[in-house]
Amino acid sequence: MAALEYIRLGPEHLQGLPRDLTVFTMVVSPIEVHGRHLPLGTDIFIAAAVRDRVVRALEENRPEISFVNLPHLYCGSDALPYPGSLSVNAAFLEGVLTDYCKGLAKQGFRYLVVFDNHGGPRHHLAIASAAGRAWKKWGFQLIDPFIDIYRRMITHDPELLSMTGLGPAECGDDADNHAGTNETSLMMAVSPELILSDVQEVEPSYPPSLGGAAKIVDLIGRFFETVGRRRTGADLRHLAQAIAWTGQEGFLPYMGAPALASKEAGEAMLGAHVKISASLIERALAGEDVRPVAILEALSFLRRLPE
Ligand SMILES: [Zn+2]
Repeated sequence: MAALEYIRLGPEHLQGLPRDLTVFTMVVSPIEVHGRHLPLGTDIFIAAAVRDRVVRALEENRPEISFVNLPHLYCGSDALPYPGSLSVNAAFLEGVLTDYCKGLAKQGFRYLVVFDNHGGPRHHLAIASAAGRAWKKWGFQLIDPFIDIYRRMITHDPELLSMTGLGPAECGDDADNHAGTNETSLMMAVSPELILSDVQEVEPSYPPSLGGAAKIVDLIGRFFETVGRRRTGADLRHLAQAIAWTGQEGFLPYMGAPALASKEAGEAMLGAHVKISASLIERALAGEDVRPVAILEALSFLRRLPE
């Protein structure tokens, strides 16, 4: 059975759904500039494709699960600061997600899976914080597989690299972080007709050297690493890369080499998204706490800084 659409249902449909075996899904993303070669809705198109594939895969293996798709939430924080992006502050995103969880939890439901392909730090911190509140207040799980996948991408997680056959600078890491090889490959696999220009003609965008605020954040990250706070240190050094890139005068609105993209690499990465997401959902249904741990989780107060 295909996923149900929440806004097409009536109260009687909802009453008939099994509380422990109904999984709600929602695509949550900002509208964001992805170079001149990819559309503003790139993250949305990719996240929706992952969601559809995850639902299909789980429906085959676990036909007892009911899936209900909520409408997309076109809200995300830390969209690339470039004309065309529509970013939403993290407090607003956190509030909307918390209230959606509350509305589902009050009906006795237990799971909402957010599908996402956006790596903004405040975006992930806001989602993780909403997940924490929903868990504490209502025992409700808000799951965002992309938060886990994103960390694997930027840390070169061996399992992700072996699953995809991809290596550094083509797996969505700091050197390929936005609308570069990985994301262009994903769009080739998901919706090639939506690609806006010949990617072979898009010159690569390389990480800049660190200076100013980025250098300071990187040094603080290195300090955390030397005192044994490796994860927080690595997270800060990732943040330093983003600050260096977007802090440059006239920065390119993508990072990486779109010309190296391929449909095969996109399919491989999609496959990994589906596998990791489906496994998280199955673990949640088995009673495990699989709430996301965002980049910079230890410094979650940073989400309160205005964009
Ligand atoms: Zn993106």
